[in-house]
Amino acid sequence: MLFASTLRLWPLDSLVSSLAHMLNALHTHIIAVVTFLVMVVVLSAGGGWLGYMSALDQLELRGRSDLALAADRLTGELLRYRELAVLMADHPTVAATVDGDGNGVAELLRVTADKTGSLDILVVSVAGRELASASGNGAENHAKQPYFTRAMDGALGVFHLVQRRYDQRTFLFASPLFSDAGPVIGAVIVVVDVNAVEAVWRGARPTVFFTDELGVTFISNRSEMVFMAREVGLTNRSATAEYAPDLLRPFMTHSIKDRGGLAIWTVLGQRYVPRAALHLSLPLPVIQMTGEALLDVAPAQLLARLQAGVVAAICLAFGAMLFLATERRRTLADANAKLEGAVQTRTAELSHANAELRHEVGERTATEAQLKKVQSDLVQAGKLSALGQMSAGISHELNQPLMAIRSYAENAESYLERGNIDVVGQNLGRIADLSRRMGRIIRNLRSFAKQESEGLTDVDLRSVMVAVLEMTQARAKSSCVQIVWTAPKTPLIVRGGEVRLQQVVLNLVTNAMDAMEGQSDLQHIEIKIEKIDARVNLSVRDTGPGLDEPDRIFDPFYTTKQINQGAINHDGVGQNGMGLGLSISYGLVQSFGGMIRGRNHPRGGAIFTVTLDASLSGEVST
Ligand code: ADP
Repeated sequence: MLFASTLRLWPLDSLVSSLAHMLNALHTHIIAVVTFLVMVVVLSAGGGWLGYMSALDQLELRGRSDLALAADRLTGELLRYRELAVLMADHPTVAATVDGDGNGVAELLRVTADKTGSLDILVVSVAGRELASASGNGAENHAKQPYFTRAMDGALGVFHLVQRRYDQRTFLFASPLFSDAGPVIGAVIVVVDVNAVEAVWRGARPTVFFTDELGVTFISNRSEMVFMAREVGLTNRSATAEYAPDLLRPFMTHSIKDRGGLAIWTVLGQRYVPRAALHLSLPLPVIQMTGEALLDVAPAQLLARLQAGVVAAICLAFGAMLFLATERRRTLADANAKLEGAVQTRTAELSHANAELRHEVGERTATEAQLKKVQSDLVQAGKLSALGQMSAGISHELNQPLMAIRSYAENAESYLERGNIDVVGQNLGRIADLSRRMGRIIRNLRSFAKQESEGLTDVDLRSVMVAVLEMTQARAKSSCVQIVWTAPKTPLIVRGGEVRLQQVVLNLVTNAMDAMEGQSDLQHIEIKIEKIDARVNLSVRDTGPGLDEPDRIFDPFYTTKQINQGAINHDGVGQNGMGLGLSISYGLVQSFGGMIRGRNHPRGGAIFTVTLDASLSGEVST
């Protein structure tokens, strides 16, 4: 039930379309956010990568100089012993030893070894046999050793090895002993204690190690790295031939990545070696080794992460600002669009209403013009109808003076023959009066028939009444109607049109006479004019049967008289009702700014009142 009513409130299709709209907007938002986040990730990764690479470059520069320094120190240290070997080879006591005179040589060797910090100094014959040594322990045959072979060739032999005799890593420099004649007669070998050389820089940063051509780490500032055999493995024959197999250890587990031409090692399971390290190497042919360094890249990585974080933070802040600005602009644009839409709708509605109003006004104006035309036609028709009504009375009115004129003229003729000039003069005077009266009647008639189109003028109601009474006098007389009217002494000026007012009043008087037509008892029309403030009231009251339907009397074509309803009285004036008289009068009085009312009088009969504006100027129209 509830669902059904909800559905009725919100139709399903509009629900679906608004849901689809929302999903669409959400989808667009998600795509925008994901795209933005991807961009942020790419940018921050790029920023981080650049930072990492530049930090690596710096690290490489520093590392190379560190490695060069360490290598210099080592080679410098070792070369001292090489020079010692060369110098000792020139010593006469040593040369004498080879020649068979070993007096004092052992002492010399020991003293020299002590003073120079050498592990041992040996004098070896050309056959490789040891003739004398500083340590005096053992008599090894050096014949097959590479350093010895090299010395026998007249060059300087360099070698490193772990000798059982010293039970430690040693570096050997073998200098040839030349006889006076020239050929090599033996060699002086200086044995260097690698531990002593190493001790100075053990634990220093960065991690530095020196590997020999067999891939074995022989010297390092990290003791755990010593004897780590790399690449060639522990099974490498040369290595195991040179080093005791139990001495060698597997090289630390590591993977290598290339970062812009730089090798980054990821080292596992080493406590004193950085986990992620930049690997640098420097060949040292003088000591037949390769110097290597492992530089911790953690600071570079931290810097890179920081840089990436900063880039991401800047991007996110910028994005958030952009998002807020876009949202704000979108909200504003939405509100604007809504407002514009509302304004457009309202404007369209207003324009439509305006057009309708204009159309209506046009129609009304046309109708009004038509009405005016009809009204003026009706006025004219009403006038003509009144004329028709009056014509009988008027002809009677004119006929009477005409007959009188004729009699007066005939009488005057006879009196003239008799020479009674006075009577003739009197008759002529009467004839002149009568013709004046006839002229007045005719003038009224003509002005009545004329179309009055002028505007409003000041009209004296007394002259209107005189004209009306003149026109109705004959009928009133014949119908035995008594018209009671006392003309005011001063002019009563109203705003209107004289002829139109005559028409209105004439219609009221004629209607009253029509109503009382055939009435046996008193036929009485009372006309009153009174001024109240700025208004003038003219009332026509009769003693007839009163109004049948007072509400309808002003309706056009409302009449209770039948056309030519056999009411042609003895004067020929008939009640040929058209039902236009009062409606035309209504229009005329309204056009004067006044009003006309009709009602039944409490004491019988009907009373009509015409209220008009009194003239402000008080002047009588001419
Ligand atoms: P008409 O005179 O052609 O009928 P009017 O508009 O002048 O048209 O009058 C309309 C009707 O009003 C008359 O038919 C009559 O019924 C009624 N009427 C007007 N004046 C009077 C009056 N004084 N007494 C009674 N009825 C009247």
